[in-house]
Amino acid sequence: MNGFQRRLRDMPAQLSHRETRALFIALADEELPADKAKEVRSHLDGCGECQQGWQHYSSTVLRLRQVEKHKAPPALASRVMTRVKRQRRFGLKRLHLMHAQYRLPVEILIPLLIAAAVGAFLVMSAP
Ligand SMILES: [Zn+2]
Repeated sequence: MNGFQRRLRDMPAQLSHRETRALFIALADEELPADKAKEVRSHLDGCGECQQGWQHYSSTVLRLRQVEKHKAPPALASRVMTRVKRQRRFGLKRLHLMHAQYRLPVEILIPLLIAAAVGAFLVMSAP
């Protein structure tokens, strides 16, 4: 390894805007390794555009975390688990057959729609 290559290796890699934004999720969840988080932060320090994007993203995540969580009704949870177990037992072929036969009950869509509406509202009301 010559001197140039060594310098290249020791230099902190500069993240592109795109790479930085792709890491927002992991940064918000505090799942980035320390050195990677440092790279993202240093890009944010030098880039107003990404900094602004991060502010929007992290404030949205924060608000979503404050939204009250709802548990699935116990009857639904146990039905889902029963099906999961059955599918494991009968394998993939059976799984495809079951998808063709079963239709999702409409009730399942309600909490999903509410979650989507709350999410959309939060995103749109972000400053
Ligand atoms: Zn940037």
